Amino acid sequence: MPTPDNTNAPDNNGFFGNYGGQEIPLELKQVMDEIADAYQEIKNDEDFKQELAELQRNYVGRPSPIYFCRRLTEHLGGAEIYLKREDLNHTGAHKINHCLGEALLAKKMGKTKILAETGAGQHGVALSAACALVGIECEIHMGAVDIAKQAPNVTRMKIMGAKVISVERGTKTLKDAVDSAFEEYLSDPKNFFYAIGSVVGPHPFPQMVRDFQQIVGIEAREQFQNQTGSLPDTLVACVGGGSNAIGLFTAFLNDEQVEMIGVEPAGLGLDTDDHAATLTLGSPGVIHGMRCYLLQDEQGEPLPVYSIASGLDYPGVGPQHSYLKDIDRVQYHSATDQECLDAFITLSRSEGIIPALESAHAVAYAIRMAPKMAGKKILINLSGRGDKDIDFVAEKLHL
Ligand SMILES: *Cc1c(COP(=O)(O)O)cnc(C)c1O
Repeated sequence: MPTPDNTNAPDNNGFFGNYGGQEIPLELKQVMDEIADAYQEIKNDEDFKQELAELQRNYVGRPSPIYFCRRLTEHLGGAEIYLKREDLNHTGAHKINHCLGEALLAKKMGKTKILAETGAGQHGVALSAACALVGIECEIHMGAVDIAKQAPNVTRMKIMGAKVISVERGTKTLKDAVDSAFEEYLSDPKNFFYAIGSVVGPHPFPQMVRDFQQIVGIEAREQFQNQTGSLPDTLVACVGGGSNAIGLFTAFLNDEQVEMIGVEPAGLGLDTDDHAATLTLGSPGVIHGMRCYLLQDEQGEPLPVYSIASGLDYPGVGPQHSYLKDIDRVQYHSATDQECLDAFITLSRSEGIIPALESAHAVAYAIRMAPKMAGKKILINLSGRGDKDIDFVAEKLHL
């Protein structure tokens, strides 16, 4: 049964309203419950909290700053624009926040190997780093097509000691990598740990990954008040699975006056088939062990999705976002590939900060709205840096 107010904690069965849960076979449910129990125990353990806090400070480089975009603000002539600089974290994005937590938990549970899939390689790189740090074997499954496209990330993973499995089946991309990694996981779920890369999957992952990411909003809320004397009026974050967005939003959920916007990828346009705007155009369904909004066909099978930003290219979305949409606490909008590219260039040229194409979706929304919001303050979660995207953008824009 949904609890009356579970914006922030799922009920005992892992439901945020009608979303989440464990849509998985019984034998996996036992393993997930073990992980949930281990996590409940560890998250209140003083030694664990101290170890994590120390690594967040000295390994990741937290707290990440809040930066006021003076030139961009002047250029837009409306709301003040601020960035939470997750792009400055070690490995270049917010993903290290939950990878570190998951690797520490797996190690404490005595697991022998961490497994994951990766698309563009960002989750694979962050997880490889966390596994090297913690000292646990790491195996990353990646489609052969993606391996060819993302050579530098593959090299990074290998240098940090991860085993990269080239997946040769199907379309040799992300979906096949998920299937391959999942099969390997099922061969020994007692000893292996499947490190999910966003606030998705069966309970307890949406809660656990959210908890590891909420440091972003906890820091931001205090920093923002110290620097500007007030809370932001509007928070903006891009949404793929939803981890960086929920990481920023969580600390502000009880601040009723703070508006929150999640920005989905509209790809080539919401009136085409080439987008991944799940909350905007999807309907409730089941994917990867959870109930959530889903872009699906009449049989409930996930539709093919597309975005210029491969980290946003997912037909489902976190169950907590699905719930926050239904209760109207967060508004979900979208930005197209073209708006994303424009924002990528605008931020780079006005501030000397190159955003990840994923994060540029959030910047695009702020650029669209700021001129109509004079006197307000917008805080954007700059989830990652764009170094990985520079060759692609240079070719696309003939730079
Ligand atoms: C992976 C990624 C995302 C999308 O994931 P969420 O779980 O929606 O945050 C966003 N930004 C960057 C930089 C990423 O690497």
